Amino acid sequence: MKEKVSFGSLCVKEPKYTDPVRPHQMPVFATSSFEFDSIDQGIDIFSGKEKGLVYARYANPNTTAVADKIARMEMFGLEGEAAGLLTSSGMSAISTLMQGILSSGDKILTQGNLYGGTTELFVKVFKRMGIETVFTNLKNHDEVEKILSADSSIKALYFETPANPTLACVDIQALADLAKAHDVYSVIDNTFCTPYLQQPFAYGVDFIIHSTTKYLNGHGNSIAGAIVGRDKNLIQGKVWEVLKLAGTNASPFEAWMTNIGMKTLELRMDRHSSNAMKVAQFLEDDSRVSRVNYNGLPSHPDHELAKRQMKDFGGMLSFELKGGYEAGIKFMNSIQFCTLAPTLGDVDTLVLHPASSSHLKVPKEMRERNGITDGLIRLSVGIENPGDIIADLDQAM
Ligand SMILES: *Cc1c(COP(=O)(O)O)cnc(C)c1O
Repeated sequence: MKEKVSFGSLCVKEPKYTDPVRPHQMPVFATSSFEFDSIDQGIDIFSGKEKGLVYARYANPNTTAVADKIARMEMFGLEGEAAGLLTSSGMSAISTLMQGILSSGDKILTQGNLYGGTTELFVKVFKRMGIETVFTNLKNHDEVEKILSADSSIKALYFETPANPTLACVDIQALADLAKAHDVYSVIDNTFCTPYLQQPFAYGVDFIIHSTTKYLNGHGNSIAGAIVGRDKNLIQGKVWEVLKLAGTNASPFEAWMTNIGMKTLELRMDRHSSNAMKVAQFLEDDSRVSRVNYNGLPSHPDHELAKRQMKDFGGMLSFELKGGYEAGIKFMNSIQFCTLAPTLGDVDTLVLHPASSSHLKVPKEMRERNGITDGLIRLSVGIENPGDIIADLDQAM
Protein backbone atom coordinates (compact mmCIF):
# COMPACT_ATOMS: atom_id res chain seq x y z
CA MET A 1 0.00 0.00 0.00
CA LYS A 2 1.35 3.41 -1.00
CA GLU A 3 1.31 5.67 2.10
CA LYS A 4 1.15 9.44 1.69
CA VAL A 5 3.74 10.02 4.43
CA SER A 6 7.11 8.51 5.33
CA PHE A 7 7.47 5.40 7.54
CA GLY A 8 8.66 7.46 10.51
CA SER A 9 5.65 9.76 10.24
CA LEU A 10 3.30 6.78 10.05
CA CYS A 11 4.79 5.58 13.37
CA VAL A 12 4.23 8.98 14.94
CA LYS A 13 0.60 9.57 13.91
CA GLU A 14 -2.21 8.46 16.19
CA PRO A 15 -4.33 5.69 14.61
CA LYS A 16 -8.01 6.57 14.14
CA TYR A 17 -10.89 4.37 15.26
CA THR A 18 -12.71 3.01 12.24
CA ASP A 19 -15.62 1.07 13.77
CA PRO A 20 -18.00 2.54 16.33
CA VAL A 21 -16.26 2.06 19.69
CA ARG A 22 -18.58 1.24 22.56
CA PRO A 23 -16.51 0.22 25.57
CA HIS A 24 -18.51 -1.57 28.27
CA GLN A 25 -16.11 -0.25 30.91
CA MET A 26 -14.74 3.28 31.03
CA PRO A 27 -11.31 3.39 29.36
CA VAL A 28 -8.48 5.53 30.73
CA PHE A 29 -8.27 8.72 28.69
CA ALA A 30 -4.50 9.06 28.84
CA THR A 31 -4.31 12.22 26.78
CA SER A 32 -3.10 15.65 27.79
CA SER A 33 -5.10 17.50 25.14
CA PHE A 34 -8.08 17.19 22.80
CA GLU A 35 -8.30 17.89 19.08
CA PHE A 36 -10.36 20.49 17.29
CA ASP A 37 -11.98 19.83 13.90
CA SER A 38 -11.27 23.37 12.74
CA ILE A 39 -10.01 26.69 13.98
CA ASP A 40 -13.62 27.90 14.18
CA GLN A 41 -14.51 25.05 16.50
CA GLY A 42 -11.38 25.78 18.56
CA ILE A 43 -12.47 29.39 18.94
CA ASP A 44 -16.00 28.34 19.95
CA ILE A 45 -14.70 25.91 22.58
CA PHE A 46 -12.14 28.34 24.00
CA SER A 47 -14.73 31.11 24.20
CA GLY A 48 -17.22 28.79 25.87
CA LYS A 49 -19.77 29.00 23.03
CA GLU A 50 -19.46 25.28 22.34
CA LYS A 51 -18.94 22.62 25.02
CA GLY A 52 -15.75 20.73 24.47
CA LEU A 53 -12.53 19.50 25.95
CA VAL A 54 -9.31 21.43 25.57
CA TYR A 55 -6.53 20.41 27.91
CA ALA A 56 -6.60 17.63 30.52
CA ARG A 57 -5.67 19.88 33.44
CA TYR A 58 -8.89 21.81 32.78
CA ALA A 59 -11.04 18.67 32.47
CA ASN A 60 -10.72 15.08 31.34
CA PRO A 61 -13.51 12.57 30.58
CA ASN A 62 -12.44 10.29 33.46
CA THR A 63 -12.27 12.96 36.14
CA THR A 64 -15.48 14.63 34.97
CA ALA A 65 -17.40 11.33 34.87
CA VAL A 66 -16.26 10.30 38.35
CA ALA A 67 -16.90 13.74 39.87
CA ASP A 68 -20.41 13.73 38.36
CA LYS A 69 -21.06 10.29 39.83
CA ILE A 70 -19.99 11.40 43.31
CA ALA A 71 -22.20 14.50 43.00
CA ARG A 72 -25.16 12.29 42.04
CA MET A 73 -24.45 9.99 45.00
CA GLU A 74 -24.41 12.97 47.36
CA MET A 75 -27.74 14.17 45.88
CA PHE A 76 -29.34 10.72 45.79
CA GLY A 77 -33.04 10.99 46.60
CA LEU A 78 -32.82 14.77 47.16
CA GLU A 79 -34.37 17.56 45.08
CA GLY A 80 -32.14 19.65 42.85
CA GLU A 81 -28.64 19.32 41.53
CA ALA A 82 -25.01 19.54 42.59
CA ALA A 83 -21.73 19.87 40.74
CA GLY A 84 -18.50 18.02 41.47
CA LEU A 85 -14.78 18.28 40.79
CA LEU A 86 -12.14 15.59 41.18
CA THR A 87 -8.82 16.64 42.71
CA SER A 88 -5.38 15.11 43.15
CA SER A 89 -6.01 14.22 46.84
CA GLY A 90 -8.36 14.85 49.73
CA MET A 91 -6.03 17.63 50.89
CA SER A 92 -6.15 19.25 47.47
CA ALA A 93 -9.96 19.08 47.55
CA ILE A 94 -9.88 21.07 50.81
CA SER A 95 -7.26 23.59 49.67
CA THR A 96 -8.87 24.07 46.24
CA LEU A 97 -12.35 24.62 47.65
CA MET A 98 -11.23 26.97 50.42
CA GLN A 99 -9.09 29.04 48.02
CA GLY A 100 -12.08 29.23 45.72
CA ILE A 101 -14.49 30.57 48.33
CA LEU A 102 -12.21 32.56 50.67
CA SER A 103 -9.93 35.57 50.34
CA SER A 104 -7.17 37.06 52.44
CA GLY A 105 -8.73 38.56 55.59
CA ASP A 106 -11.46 35.93 55.80
CA LYS A 107 -11.56 33.45 58.68
CA ILE A 108 -12.57 29.80 59.10
CA LEU A 109 -14.46 28.57 62.16
CA THR A 110 -13.85 24.90 62.92
CA GLN A 111 -13.33 22.16 65.55
CA GLY A 112 -10.11 21.03 67.28
CA ASN A 113 -10.33 17.35 66.31
CA LEU A 114 -10.10 17.67 62.52
CA TYR A 115 -8.07 15.34 60.30
CA GLY A 116 -4.46 16.25 61.21
CA GLY A 117 -3.52 17.40 57.71
CA THR A 118 -6.48 19.77 57.58
CA THR A 119 -5.53 21.46 60.86
CA GLU A 120 -1.95 21.87 59.61
CA LEU A 121 -3.11 23.26 56.25
CA PHE A 122 -5.26 25.84 58.03
CA VAL A 123 -2.81 26.95 60.72
CA LYS A 124 0.41 26.80 58.68
CA VAL A 125 -0.35 27.45 55.01
CA PHE A 126 -3.61 29.41 55.08
CA LYS A 127 -2.44 31.57 57.94
CA ARG A 128 0.49 32.75 55.81
CA MET A 129 -2.00 33.65 53.08
CA GLY A 130 -3.97 35.82 55.48
CA ILE A 131 -6.74 33.32 56.25
CA GLU A 132 -7.01 32.69 59.97
CA THR A 133 -8.69 29.78 61.71
CA VAL A 134 -10.75 29.95 64.87
CA PHE A 135 -11.17 26.72 66.83
CA THR A 136 -14.12 25.98 69.09
CA ASN A 137 -16.29 23.15 70.31
CA LEU A 138 -18.86 22.81 67.51
CA LYS A 139 -21.16 20.85 69.82
CA ASN A 140 -21.73 24.05 71.76
CA HIS A 141 -24.19 25.81 69.44
CA ASP A 142 -24.56 28.85 71.71
CA GLU A 143 -20.81 29.40 71.53
CA VAL A 144 -20.81 28.96 67.72
CA GLU A 145 -23.67 31.48 67.48
CA LYS A 146 -21.77 33.90 69.71
CA ILE A 147 -18.54 33.63 67.67
CA LEU A 148 -20.35 34.02 64.34
CA SER A 149 -22.27 37.04 65.61
CA ALA A 150 -19.15 38.72 66.99
CA ASP A 151 -16.85 38.23 64.00
CA SER A 152 -18.15 39.05 60.53
CA SER A 153 -14.82 38.10 58.94
CA ILE A 154 -15.65 34.41 59.51
CA LYS A 155 -16.75 33.24 56.08
CA ALA A 156 -16.69 29.46 56.41
CA LEU A 157 -17.84 26.94 59.02
CA TYR A 158 -15.81 23.77 58.44
CA PHE A 159 -16.55 20.46 60.15
CA GLU A 160 -16.07 16.70 60.18
CA THR A 161 -18.45 14.09 61.58
CA PRO A 162 -17.70 11.56 62.91
CA ALA A 163 -14.17 12.70 63.75
CA ASN A 164 -10.97 10.92 64.66
CA PRO A 165 -10.21 9.17 66.99
CA THR A 166 -13.18 9.17 69.35
CA LEU A 167 -15.82 9.17 66.59
CA ALA A 168 -17.32 12.30 68.16
CA CYS A 169 -20.19 13.68 66.05
CA VAL A 170 -21.47 17.20 65.45
CA ASP A 171 -25.04 18.09 64.47
CA ILE A 172 -25.01 18.73 60.70
CA GLN A 173 -28.48 20.31 60.60
CA ALA A 174 -27.76 22.70 63.48
CA LEU A 175 -24.41 23.80 62.02
CA ALA A 176 -25.78 24.25 58.49
CA ASP A 177 -28.60 26.37 59.95
CA LEU A 178 -26.19 28.51 61.98
CA ALA A 179 -23.98 29.05 58.94
CA LYS A 180 -26.97 30.04 56.80
CA ALA A 181 -28.27 32.47 59.43
CA HIS A 182 -24.92 34.27 59.41
CA ASP A 183 -24.36 34.11 55.64
CA VAL A 184 -21.34 31.86 56.09
CA TYR A 185 -20.46 28.88 53.85
CA SER A 186 -20.80 25.46 55.50
CA VAL A 187 -18.26 22.82 54.46
CA ILE A 188 -18.18 19.20 55.62
CA ASP A 189 -15.55 16.49 55.21
CA ASN A 190 -17.70 13.40 54.53
CA THR A 191 -14.76 10.99 54.06
CA PHE A 192 -15.56 8.67 56.99
CA CYS A 193 -19.18 8.13 55.94
CA THR A 194 -19.34 8.41 52.16
CA PRO A 195 -22.69 9.48 50.66
CA TYR A 196 -24.05 6.00 51.30
CA LEU A 197 -23.99 6.46 55.08
CA GLN A 198 -24.49 10.22 55.38
CA GLN A 199 -25.90 12.86 53.01
CA PRO A 200 -25.01 16.33 54.32
CA PHE A 201 -26.94 18.05 51.50
CA ALA A 202 -30.15 16.77 53.11
CA TYR A 203 -29.39 19.21 55.97
CA GLY A 204 -28.55 22.20 53.78
CA VAL A 205 -24.75 22.06 53.83
CA ASP A 206 -23.17 24.09 50.99
CA PHE A 207 -20.08 22.02 50.19
CA ILE A 208 -18.89 18.46 50.75
CA ILE A 209 -15.31 17.31 50.36
CA HIS A 210 -13.96 13.76 50.22
CA SER A 211 -10.67 11.99 50.38
CA THR A 212 -11.72 9.36 47.80
CA THR A 213 -8.44 7.68 48.77
CA LYS A 214 -10.35 6.12 51.66
CA TYR A 215 -13.79 4.46 51.41
CA LEU A 216 -14.91 5.69 47.98
CA ASN A 217 -11.97 3.95 46.29
CA GLY A 218 -11.84 1.46 49.14
CA HIS A 219 -8.89 -0.64 48.03
CA GLY A 220 -5.95 1.49 49.12
CA ASN A 221 -4.55 1.81 45.60
CA SER A 222 -5.23 5.40 44.59
CA ILE A 223 -5.05 8.93 45.97
CA ALA A 224 -7.67 11.49 44.93
CA GLY A 225 -10.26 13.85 46.35
CA ALA A 226 -13.63 15.32 45.47
CA ILE A 227 -15.42 18.63 45.94
CA VAL A 228 -19.22 18.73 45.61
CA GLY A 229 -21.36 21.85 45.90
CA ARG A 230 -24.99 22.85 45.42
CA ASP A 231 -23.99 26.14 43.76
CA LYS A 232 -23.01 24.94 40.28
CA ASN A 233 -21.84 28.38 39.18
CA LEU A 234 -19.47 28.64 42.10
CA ILE A 235 -18.08 25.11 41.62
CA GLN A 236 -17.69 25.47 37.87
CA GLY A 237 -16.55 29.09 38.24
CA LYS A 238 -14.30 30.25 41.06
CA VAL A 239 -13.52 26.81 42.50
CA TRP A 240 -12.77 25.22 39.12
CA GLU A 241 -10.58 28.22 38.32
CA VAL A 242 -8.36 27.38 41.33
CA LEU A 243 -8.20 23.73 40.28
CA LYS A 244 -7.28 24.70 36.72
CA LEU A 245 -4.70 27.35 37.65
CA ALA A 246 -3.19 25.77 40.76
CA GLY A 247 -3.15 22.44 38.90
CA THR A 248 -4.90 20.42 41.59
CA ASN A 249 -6.75 18.16 39.13
CA ALA A 250 -6.88 14.38 39.59
CA SER A 251 -5.15 12.19 37.03
CA PRO A 252 -7.31 10.11 34.65
CA PHE A 253 -5.81 6.91 36.05
CA GLU A 254 -6.70 7.78 39.66
CA ALA A 255 -10.22 8.65 38.51
CA TRP A 256 -10.45 5.33 36.69
CA MET A 257 -9.32 3.41 39.80
CA THR A 258 -11.80 5.34 41.95
CA ASN A 259 -14.62 4.45 39.56
CA ILE A 260 -13.86 0.74 39.87
CA GLY A 261 -13.74 0.98 43.66
CA MET A 262 -17.05 2.86 43.91
CA LYS A 263 -18.96 0.07 42.16
CA THR A 264 -18.96 -1.97 45.37
CA LEU A 265 -19.44 0.96 47.79
CA GLU A 266 -22.82 -0.14 49.14
CA LEU A 267 -21.71 -3.75 49.67
CA ARG A 268 -18.48 -2.66 51.33
CA MET A 269 -20.04 -0.05 53.63
CA ASP A 270 -22.69 -2.53 54.81
CA ARG A 271 -19.99 -5.07 55.60
CA HIS A 272 -17.61 -2.50 57.16
CA SER A 273 -20.48 -1.42 59.41
CA SER A 274 -21.62 -4.88 60.47
CA ASN A 275 -18.03 -6.04 61.05
CA ALA A 276 -17.19 -2.93 63.10
CA MET A 277 -20.28 -3.47 65.25
CA LYS A 278 -19.21 -7.07 65.98
CA VAL A 279 -15.64 -5.97 66.79
CA ALA A 280 -16.89 -3.11 69.00
CA GLN A 281 -19.18 -5.46 70.94
CA PHE A 282 -16.32 -7.93 71.42
CA LEU A 283 -14.03 -5.18 72.71
CA GLU A 284 -16.67 -3.66 74.98
CA ASP A 285 -17.11 -6.99 76.73
CA ASP A 286 -13.35 -7.52 77.17
CA SER A 287 -11.73 -6.83 80.55
CA ARG A 288 -8.39 -5.79 78.96
CA VAL A 289 -10.12 -2.82 77.32
CA SER A 290 -11.10 0.25 79.36
CA ARG A 291 -13.11 2.11 76.69
CA VAL A 292 -14.49 1.57 73.18
CA ASN A 293 -15.26 4.53 70.92
CA TYR A 294 -17.80 3.36 68.34
CA ASN A 295 -20.90 5.43 67.80
CA GLY A 296 -22.90 2.33 66.95
CA LEU A 297 -22.68 1.34 70.62
CA PRO A 298 -25.44 2.76 72.86
CA SER A 299 -22.63 3.63 75.33
CA HIS A 300 -21.13 6.19 72.89
CA PRO A 301 -22.04 9.76 73.91
CA ASP A 302 -23.10 10.60 70.32
CA HIS A 303 -24.98 7.38 69.59
CA GLU A 304 -28.38 9.09 69.23
CA LEU A 305 -27.03 11.90 67.03
CA ALA A 306 -25.15 9.40 64.84
CA LYS A 307 -28.32 7.32 64.53
CA ARG A 308 -30.23 10.38 63.37
CA GLN A 309 -27.82 11.55 60.67
CA MET A 310 -26.13 8.31 59.58
CA LYS A 311 -27.72 5.31 57.83
CA ASP A 312 -25.30 2.97 59.64
CA PHE A 313 -22.20 3.51 61.80
CA GLY A 314 -19.35 2.73 59.41
CA GLY A 315 -16.04 0.93 59.86
CA MET A 316 -14.00 3.25 62.09
CA LEU A 317 -13.55 2.73 65.82
CA SER A 318 -10.95 3.17 68.52
CA PHE A 319 -10.39 1.56 71.91
CA GLU A 320 -8.19 2.01 74.93
CA LEU A 321 -5.99 -0.75 76.28
CA LYS A 322 -5.69 -0.79 80.07
CA GLY A 323 -1.89 -1.15 80.01
CA GLY A 324 -1.17 2.29 78.48
CA TYR A 325 1.73 2.99 76.10
CA GLU A 326 3.56 -0.29 76.72
CA ALA A 327 0.41 -2.32 76.15
CA GLY A 328 -0.14 -0.38 72.92
CA ILE A 329 3.34 -1.19 71.60
CA LYS A 330 3.06 -4.84 72.63
CA PHE A 331 -0.36 -5.11 71.00
CA MET A 332 0.90 -3.63 67.71
CA ASN A 333 3.88 -5.99 67.63
CA SER A 334 1.59 -8.98 68.23
CA ILE A 335 -0.82 -8.28 65.36
CA GLN A 336 -0.69 -11.11 62.81
CA PHE A 337 -3.79 -11.04 60.60
CA CYS A 338 -4.61 -7.33 60.45
CA THR A 339 -2.27 -4.77 58.85
CA LEU A 340 -0.27 -1.98 60.50
CA ALA A 341 -0.82 0.88 58.06
CA PRO A 342 -1.44 4.59 58.55
CA THR A 343 -4.54 4.95 56.38
CA LEU A 344 -8.21 3.94 56.59
CA GLY A 345 -11.15 2.77 54.52
CA ASP A 346 -9.44 -0.15 52.79
CA VAL A 347 -11.07 -3.58 52.42
CA ASP A 348 -8.61 -5.09 54.92
CA THR A 349 -8.48 -4.23 58.62
CA LEU A 350 -5.88 -1.58 59.47
CA VAL A 351 -4.49 -0.94 62.94
CA LEU A 352 -2.88 2.28 64.17
CA HIS A 353 -1.38 3.26 67.54
CA PRO A 354 -1.59 7.09 67.34
CA ALA A 355 0.64 7.78 70.39
CA SER A 356 3.65 6.08 68.72
CA SER A 357 2.91 7.06 65.10
CA SER A 358 0.59 9.77 63.78
CA HIS A 359 0.72 11.76 67.04
CA LEU A 360 4.30 10.96 68.10
CA LYS A 361 5.31 14.62 67.87
CA VAL A 362 2.19 16.02 69.52
CA PRO A 363 2.82 16.80 73.21
CA LYS A 364 1.15 14.19 75.45
CA GLU A 365 -1.00 16.77 77.23
CA MET A 366 -2.32 18.14 73.93
CA ARG A 367 -3.13 14.77 72.37
CA GLU A 368 -4.84 13.55 75.54
CA ARG A 369 -7.14 16.57 75.38
CA ASN A 370 -8.39 15.19 72.05
CA GLY A 371 -8.82 11.68 73.45
CA ILE A 372 -5.54 10.28 72.10
CA THR A 373 -4.28 8.48 75.17
CA ASP A 374 -1.16 6.26 75.40
CA GLY A 375 -3.12 3.02 75.12
CA LEU A 376 -5.47 4.12 72.35
CA ILE A 377 -5.68 1.90 69.26
CA ARG A 378 -7.49 2.98 66.10
CA LEU A 379 -9.08 0.35 63.87
CA SER A 380 -10.29 0.73 60.33
CA VAL A 381 -12.37 -2.45 60.33
CA GLY A 382 -12.24 -4.22 56.96
CA ILE A 383 -14.64 -6.53 55.15
CA GLU A 384 -12.91 -9.82 55.98
CA ASN A 385 -14.62 -12.59 57.93
CA PRO A 386 -15.26 -10.86 61.28
CA GLY A 387 -14.15 -13.97 63.18
CA ASP A 388 -10.61 -13.63 61.80
CA ILE A 389 -10.40 -9.95 62.84
CA ILE A 390 -11.67 -10.65 66.37
CA ALA A 391 -9.37 -13.68 66.80
CA ASP A 392 -6.34 -11.56 65.85
CA LEU A 393 -7.28 -8.73 68.26
CA ASP A 394 -7.90 -11.30 70.99
CA GLN A 395 -4.52 -13.00 70.63
CA ALA A 396 -2.68 -9.66 70.29
CA MET A 397 -4.16 -8.45 73.61
C1 LIG B 1 -7.18 11.05 54.60
C2 LIG B 1 -8.09 12.13 54.94
C3 LIG B 1 -7.98 13.40 54.36
C4 LIG B 1 -6.86 13.73 53.38
O1 LIG B 1 -6.99 12.98 52.21
P1 LIG B 1 -5.76 12.60 51.26
O2 LIG B 1 -6.43 11.86 50.13
O3 LIG B 1 -4.79 11.78 52.03
O4 LIG B 1 -5.15 13.89 50.81
C5 LIG B 1 -8.88 14.36 54.71
N1 LIG B 1 -9.87 14.11 55.60
C6 LIG B 1 -10.01 12.91 56.17
C7 LIG B 1 -11.12 12.69 57.15
C8 LIG B 1 -9.14 11.88 55.87
O5 LIG B 1 -9.28 10.69 56.47
